[in-house]
Amino acid sequence: MKKRNILLLLAMGLTLCKSEPKDEKAEFLKKEKEQLTKLYQSLNEGSQAYSELEKMSSLGNRMTATEQGTKAEEIIFEKLKEYGYEPRFHSFPINIWTRQNASLRIQIGGKTEDFNTLSFAYTPKDSHIKGRIIDVGNGLPEDFKKHAKDIKGNIVLVNLHVLDIKNYKGGNPHRSTRVLSAIAKGAIGVIMVNKFFGEILATGTVAKDDKLVKVPAICISFRDGQRIRDAIQSGDDLIANLQIQNNQEMAEARNVIATLPGLDPLGKKVVLGGHLDTWDVSSGAFDNGIGSFSILDIARAMKESGVTPHRNVEFVFWMGEEQGLIGSKAYIKDQMESGKLDEIYYYINIDLDGNPKGLNTQGWDSAISTIKEMGNRVKGFHKPYKNVIVNRPTDSSDNVPFAVAGIPVLRMLRDIKEEKLKYYHSNKDNFYLIEEDDIKNSAIVMGMMTFLIANARDWDIKRLNVEETKKFLTERNKHWILTEANHWKLRQTLESGKPGGSIEKK
Ligand SMILES: [Zn+2]
Repeated sequence: MKKRNILLLLAMGLTLCKSEPKDEKAEFLKKEKEQLTKLYQSLNEGSQAYSELEKMSSLGNRMTATEQGTKAEEIIFEKLKEYGYEPRFHSFPINIWTRQNASLRIQIGGKTEDFNTLSFAYTPKDSHIKGRIIDVGNGLPEDFKKHAKDIKGNIVLVNLHVLDIKNYKGGNPHRSTRVLSAIAKGAIGVIMVNKFFGEILATGTVAKDDKLVKVPAICISFRDGQRIRDAIQSGDDLIANLQIQNNQEMAEARNVIATLPGLDPLGKKVVLGGHLDTWDVSSGAFDNGIGSFSILDIARAMKESGVTPHRNVEFVFWMGEEQGLIGSKAYIKDQMESGKLDEIYYYINIDLDGNPKGLNTQGWDSAISTIKEMGNRVKGFHKPYKNVIVNRPTDSSDNVPFAVAGIPVLRMLRDIKEEKLKYYHSNKDNFYLIEEDDIKNSAIVMGMMTFLIANARDWDIKRLNVEETKKFLTERNKHWILTEANHWKLRQTLESGKPGGSIEKK
């Protein structure tokens, strides 16, 4: 063949190569739009999120490793099967704490009074203490310092939340941090005052992991807290009698997992997760019925509409979240140990969130523009959605073990009447609080976003290696994740021997 002809052929070939992907790209986008349209219909007109949550809520609480919790795991498993999935259980051990009794008796104005109270989780099995009440107000480091002399051997009275949080830049210290500060100053017990008006008692863990703390810690209502404070202000020296009994034992719990297969030969996956478990005091409508049942409806709608994204979508219903993210930590540990961490392309978390007005890219600067673009496409279908983007890491939920593993995380920006959220972790967090649109809109926006991220075949967002993650978390003032919650220790243990090295292995 003559040289000229070869060049001609080569040029033709190049033109072909160039035009083929273009058609293919157009075809891909067309198909994506068709799939989105079907998915939107199923999530919107076919929504079953609200009615399924109502059914589950009528059964009461879903506390991990109790009869109720086990039943909830099974109901979700069966539902996923009914929708056409092959679900699986992921078992993990958990040190489970359950409450028996708590009582608080104080002499006020010459009269003995009993107060309504709830133990915080992971407080001692059996404890009876007597001591003077020392009010440390908001319980910030400076408050503890100011009262340091009086605290030793006595009982600390402290707010469960910083009251004027807007004027305070440090963020609200977790209840476990407050208890640790009290113990460090020699307190023998802690009484925390709920910030909301009315007879609302809250629970939650005061441990950093699932081990018991050393002193009893209980919650009282705002009103009772005010009465005690008034008495102290008027010069009364108040002596409290505080008694608690609880149980603790090793048990097993199960995350429930289902996969929608994608086309990617590399088997990468987008994980959409939210915790199914609740505390024992309510059916957990906002924490986190709304999140887990949005996810259940997204799973239903993806099957019903027959979508096949580029990457796999894995739906995970976590247990043991309330005890310290135990289910999601166990999952990440297993993924690391089996060398499958790289399979996780993105993690999307729904917890205590509904009726999204936007999304939170959790500090991943490089994700903002793509997520914003995807959000605009969702808005094209779903007019009420505002697509506001914020970019700040949040903690205290199952996204933390993923963030520590260097995986990009997405959460929503909720638009719910804030007064409803005050019932979280209380005996009043029940179904009547949820409006149908709160959960339906949540499933629509997060379902479409999950599909778009799973289907973004040309978007190459890389997981961070150890050093990059450390830098990322530290720079964003999440140093506590590295030091306190044992997450970092887990990652370091599993990846030791490769200091600073890449963890990209297969
Ligand atoms: Zn929660």
